[in-house]
Amino acid sequence: MLTNLQARDVETLVHPYTNLVAVRETGPLILERGKGVWVHDVDGKPYLEGMAGLWCTALGYGNEELVEAAAAQMRKLPFTHIFGGKSHDPAIELAEKLKEMAPVPISKVFFTSSGSEANDTQMKLVWYMNNALGRPKKKKIISRMRAYHGVTIASASLTGLAGNHNDFDLPIAGVRHTTCPHYYRLAEAGETEEDFATRLAADLEALIIAEGPETVAAFIAEPVLGAGGVIVPPKSYYPKIEAVLKKYDVFFIGDEVITGFGRLGTAFGCEALEMKPNSISIAKALSSAYQPIGGVMIPEDMYQAMLQESSKLGSFGHGYTYSGHPVAAAVAVKTLEIYERESIFERVRAKIPQFDARRAALEDHPLVGEARGAGLVGAVELVADKKTKQQFDPKLGLAAKCVAFCQEEGLILRNVFGDAITICPPLVISPAEIDELFDRLTRALDKTLDWAV
Ligand code: PLP
Repeated sequence: MLTNLQARDVETLVHPYTNLVAVRETGPLILERGKGVWVHDVDGKPYLEGMAGLWCTALGYGNEELVEAAAAQMRKLPFTHIFGGKSHDPAIELAEKLKEMAPVPISKVFFTSSGSEANDTQMKLVWYMNNALGRPKKKKIISRMRAYHGVTIASASLTGLAGNHNDFDLPIAGVRHTTCPHYYRLAEAGETEEDFATRLAADLEALIIAEGPETVAAFIAEPVLGAGGVIVPPKSYYPKIEAVLKKYDVFFIGDEVITGFGRLGTAFGCEALEMKPNSISIAKALSSAYQPIGGVMIPEDMYQAMLQESSKLGSFGHGYTYSGHPVAAAVAVKTLEIYERESIFERVRAKIPQFDARRAALEDHPLVGEARGAGLVGAVELVADKKTKQQFDPKLGLAAKCVAFCQEEGLILRNVFGDAITICPPLVISPAEIDELFDRLTRALDKTLDWAV
């Protein structure tokens, strides 16, 4: 029986990423307030937010400094744009800070309101650049199976998940997907991680050759694949991939929308994984999700090509009303200030051994085939048979059931791909709360086991 608020919800809202039929029966979980890593529903029940919302509320809930930064900017100048040569202090300060923090040489920053818009922009900038450089055929973008890069027409095409393509008539032309670096599922018998990485680099090279290197413009990768099930590539994967990209003059786009700003214990995920992209997409933890803001960090050679092309055309014809929104930018500036002042990334590094140990211990559970992750992000993959790695019948909806048991236990997690359950708490989670998270997840796994047998 739906509550009044739930009934009003299902009569009025279309929920993103939701079984639209089932939610009409069950109604949504309606949350009301939050503090630290905890959120409360309308009945006052507390939940540990084990996903930091959608991998984004890095500083947790109820951060008054961020609230004040937004309020102060709203009072001063709630909106002005940065089109046509206008600007404002928060956007300038934010771009300066990002340039200082950048893990690879970055010249300029272009702001968006989301990660999808950032990756859309990346694709357009690569096309624009290659037109400027006089190579109009070099336009294809290679992504990876199980990658997640967003949901706009271009970024959903880059995403390598069937659920984002089916019946949306995607991907668009000119996007290809190479092998996913998931050793647990895709390694051949006897193959070491090193051999696996070598094979994946060879797969990428074969794809580039088959397409024609003169047609391949860019490769896009999240350092750790997030919504595809938290997949951490083998250590030598990125250096091997980068050698192929260099050989064929393929631009490397890094998607740091989840891994940017401390998730792996480093400012950017690429620093933790020996990955050296040319440009970087950011969003989510940039503002700890207190305001919608994303961006593209652009290298000098790309910027020079943009200058050249826009002088030819008379203008750089791209930009969103909310590019560099002053309130969002002011909140992001404050967020970066807090990360630095409170040594948030160093403190994440100190928490990783405990998080790793608790995550790894889950592999002893009868339902868990792999408990993987890096930094403060992880996933458990449920299997019917640990030896053969056989999956459960998808019709059972086992991981979704486990997530429902988590909710019963007062823990919010997500089921993102097959039977993978993801974990990505706010970076400010305490050691006691890390234990609480894994204790609750273990109880939910036990309930799932009882339910399944
Ligand atoms: N890129 C990555 C790696 C993401 O995880 C996401 C969202 O989860 C996106 C891009 C898309 O960001 P948004 O949902 O803000 O459009």
